[in-house]
Order: sequence, then C-alpha cells, then structure tokens
Amino acid sequence: KKVYLNGEILDAENAKISVFDRGFLFGDGIYEVMLQINSNFFYGAEHLKRLAECLEKINIKFDVSSLPDTIEQLLQTCELEDKDCLLYIQVTRGIAPRKHSFPTNIEPTLLMYAIPFILPDINEKPISVVIAKDFRWHRCDIKMTSLLGNVMANDVAIKGGHYETVFYRDGKVTEASHSNIFFVKDGIVYTHPADENILNGITREIVIQLCRESNIPIQEKGILEQDINEMDEAFLTGTSTQIASIQKIDEHAYYEGNEPGVITKKLQLLFLELKNSYVS
Ligand code: PLP
Repeated sequence: KKVYLNGEILDAENAKISVFDRGFLFGDGIYEVMLQINSNFFYGAEHLKRLAECLEKINIKFDVSSLPDTIEQLLQTCELEDKDCLLYIQVTRGIAPRKHSFPTNIEPTLLMYAIPFILPDINEKPISVVIAKDFRWHRCDIKMTSLLGNVMANDVAIKGGHYETVFYRDGKVTEASHSNIFFVKDGIVYTHPADENILNGITREIVIQLCRESNIPIQEKGILEQDINEMDEAFLTGTSTQIASIQKIDEHAYYEGNEPGVITKKLQLLFLELKNSYVS
C-alpha cells in the first residue's frame, strides 16, 4: 500500500514521521475524508474548502490549491484514478521541540492515502444508536485529528452493538461521534445549526440543499434531548454513512421492521439520484 508523505509517494511501511511531529504529540492537525465515485470526487471542492477553513482556524499555513494535482498523482500510482475509493488527507502543524506555543517557521506535514471503497447505492441497514452527554471540547466545528472524545464515545456504541453515540449538550442534540443527526416531526426536518457545537458535515449540507430543492421544510434547530422519543423519524448523515435511518435510539424504537420513515426514504432516493448524476 502506497501513501503520500511530504512530496513523496512511498510504500506505507517506508513512510516515517518524526516523533516530534505536533500531530503525534498534540493532535495538532486537521484532516479530511472524501470519496471518489464514478471518477469524480463527490463534493471534492467543498471538502477541500472545509480543509482550508479548518487550517485557517488553527493558524496552520498551508495552501490547498496544489492538492488536486498531488491527489491525481497518488491515485495514478495506486491505480485508483478511475476507481471508487476513499481519500484521507491530514495536515499537521509540523515538527518542532515540544512546547505548547505555535512554533514559527515550521513546515506542515502532509499525509494522504487512498484505498478502494465502494458505497452501497443506499445505506439500507436500519441502525441503533445510544445517546450520551457531549463531553468534547467547545470547538467541534474544527475537523481536528485529536479525536479522543469521538473515539471514546464511538467505542461505547460499538461495544453495545450500536452504530453510533449521539451527543447532547445544554439539553440539545448536537451530532454523533462521526456523523450528523437529523430528526423529522410532522413533516418538518430538523438538524442542529452549524455552530461551534458540531462539525458542519458536507453530507449534512447536501441533505439541507436536497430538502430545500424538494420543498421539504427544513429547520436548523437543535432538538431537545427530552423530546427525542416524540420524533417521527431520525437519521444520520456522513461521507461514508450517507443517510442512515435510525431505527432505535437507546430503548426507544422509531419503527419496527426494516422500512425507514417516509421522509428518510425520500431523502435517501434523492441522495442516490444526486450521486448518480454528479459531475465535479
Ligand atoms: N460530525 C463529525 C464529528 C464527523 O467526524 C463527521 C465526519 O467524519 C461528520 C459529522 C460528517 O461529516 P461529512 O458529512 O462531511 O462526512
């Protein structure tokens, strides 16, 4: 398996980073995950824009405009240029003696890899999730590599046989450990506003757009944790999750059997249509 590291494409086992890389020591870096579908990166420009914005937020100076060429080289080397695949990109602040303050004159570390990845047309598996207090920090809008809070929360879900842990903060449902959450009540779709309490998912933005184009009422409003059992439907969104219908949240079932709610199903079909017709 090949990886791209700081200007070179190497066998993964030969790619080495310094133990003084701030990504390793502090989790001081930003990452992105995007999918190539039918030879196009699905909303690739939006993913790169989010990467640039997050780097800016933490004051890492890195120009993302050179990435498309580098990505093409990597995909060619991996013989994935026309294959469906997942691309991981990580930019860390770089290497410096361990000290909290941001070093000056530091070169960021760029790591990328691509692996074959085939999405199902529709994520048809109804999922179960658990809900927990959001114990992460207060800048969840930054897609940083320090994911300890997210991985700890996800581990609780997986160990219990669930897909995700959904967080609430200040009484309101925010997002999940690696996906965004939507609810439906009386024909209206709700999702938490894109503030510092959530990562503004590209899939989340696509779903909002699909609702607007199809005249499905959508409100960016956090649902109260105490009201989740009153909702008609709930679903998660994410790059590899796509749109996943939530069958059960803790002990509460939104439906029995395998058929998701009407609006969830409709959005899944609209999302499939969009994927099939998408050209970057
Ligand atoms: N929320 C969190 C915390 C995430 O880590 C992710 C994706 O990894 C998402 C939401 C969904 O974002 P996207 O749709 O861009 O994959």
